[in-house]
Amino acid sequence: MRLRKITYALFIIATVCLFTSCKKECKHQSIEWVIDKQATCTEEGIEHEECTKCHEKFDIKEIKKLKHICNDEGICTICGNKVATSGLIYKLNEDKKSYYVSEYIGIDIDIIIPAKYDGLYVTSIGDSAFSNFIGLTSIEIPNSVTSIKYGAFSGCIGLTSIEIPNSVTTIESFAFSGCIGLTRVEIPDSVTIIGAFAFSGCTGLTSIEIPNSVTSIRYFAFSGCTGLTSLEIPASVINIEDSAFSGCQNLTSIIVDKKNQKYDSRNDCNAIIDTQTNALIMGCKNTIIPEDIKSIGVDAFYRCTGLTSIKIPDSVKTIGTRAFNGCTGLTSIEIPSSVTIVDYCAFDDCDNISYNIYDNGKYLGNTENPYLVIVGVTNNTTESFSINPNTKLIGGGVFSKCRNLKSIEIPDGVTSIGVSAFNWCGSLKSIKIPDSVTSIGDSVFSGCTSLKSIEIPNSVTSIGDSAFSGCIGLTSIIIPNSVTSMGDEVFNMCKAITVYCEALERPSGWSEWWNYSNYGNCNVIWGYKKNK
Ligand SMILES: [Zn+2]
Ligand SMILES: [Zn+2]
Repeated sequence: MRLRKITYALFIIATVCLFTSCKKECKHQSIEWVIDKQATCTEEGIEHEECTKCHEKFDIKEIKKLKHICNDEGICTICGNKVATSGLIYKLNEDKKSYYVSEYIGIDIDIIIPAKYDGLYVTSIGDSAFSNFIGLTSIEIPNSVTSIKYGAFSGCIGLTSIEIPNSVTTIESFAFSGCIGLTRVEIPDSVTIIGAFAFSGCTGLTSIEIPNSVTSIRYFAFSGCTGLTSLEIPASVINIEDSAFSGCQNLTSIIVDKKNQKYDSRNDCNAIIDTQTNALIMGCKNTIIPEDIKSIGVDAFYRCTGLTSIKIPDSVKTIGTRAFNGCTGLTSIEIPSSVTIVDYCAFDDCDNISYNIYDNGKYLGNTENPYLVIVGVTNNTTESFSINPNTKLIGGGVFSKCRNLKSIEIPDGVTSIGVSAFNWCGSLKSIKIPDSVTSIGDSVFSGCTSLKSIEIPNSVTSIGDSAFSGCIGLTSIIIPNSVTSMGDEVFNMCKAITVYCEALERPSGWSEWWNYSNYGNCNVIWGYKKNK
């Protein structure tokens, strides 16, 4: 009896101990969600949170409805409801065998497009079909669609992600431009062409994987995607157009697949280089320009605000349009004497560079010649201007819009006058081009409405597109035999002009359209001989 009592007491104590020790032990170290009711495509589900040990319950939550599984006809294969969104407008394609979505006039913000309409496949999302539909939250594109047309989703700022089916081969221009809410987009490996401006201004994108099916990335395709930090170009890409990644200022790494035949990122330089031409077409703040680069491309470092120093090697001959425009992190940059052309606004808005100043001009150069190239002016209302006597290059756009500029002396020694250098200098009456100049770029004197006469020295070998367009005051000009290359519409809208050419007929290097004008082709006299 006594023994039983003791045993009983011990049992009680043990149980209490066990119980309290468990209580002490359980500080809910492992908590999980338990489903009470599964969600379906028509009803929400329920789940709650509980401790896996003591099963104490905490939170209760609704589970979102599942996606309908939409068949070709727009019917859900699970619930049998019609789930294709109403308000989609379909139009027959030219082949009359398929449809495209041309417009949306419905009210839903979560859209499901069926693969078929009226028995025929829907093969594309038409031009601007959903453009600027800011309420659009999600969209399901069927895998009958092969192309997303011009501006189809541009400005859909509410769109956070999109699944592009792997039937799509072409993402046309502006397709997703300005979709600032997009944080994730998977480009399927069926896509071969990414159109111009297709993802431009998608500032929310933090990464993008370009699949190894893409052959062409058109101009400005990813421009202004400031969220991107790294870029990989696969082997399949054979065409990257100017400015494709312009203004992607937060890129820190750029890698081209070693198997790519057209482009490379040699010596881990963090840039895209055209292998054959040695042109650097896109860089970032960590770029080291390799020693064999010949040119720096359009927008290569445009608004690369993180770039604090860069060495341009003396293999470089051309610095492209806006190449370093807006590089506010740069305080200095040396231009080697190998450079022969500095294109339009290449160094504009580099607010923190300490330029070499002479008269009203901003210059860049090197220790031997600090005034190698004039890249800007400090005062664009000036009436007269003198360029430093050591200057060799006039950068593109430098005097453009100096509307009061009446006279300017170009020193002997200047070899190249960059594109649009004197564009819209409406007060400029005359200008002497020294016989050191070999190239007159595109639009150099276009819009110089007061220009009465100009002499082209016989050192000049090339004259660019529209070089004198809109020079309505010009009545005559002599083109010497030395000019072997002539662009399009060089004298467009020069109503009164007669062009005297020393050549007997149009040289092969001149554009067919060289003397085209909106008023009919300009008057041309071939075989002109100067009076000796
Ligand atoms: Zn517990
Ligand atoms: Zn359903």
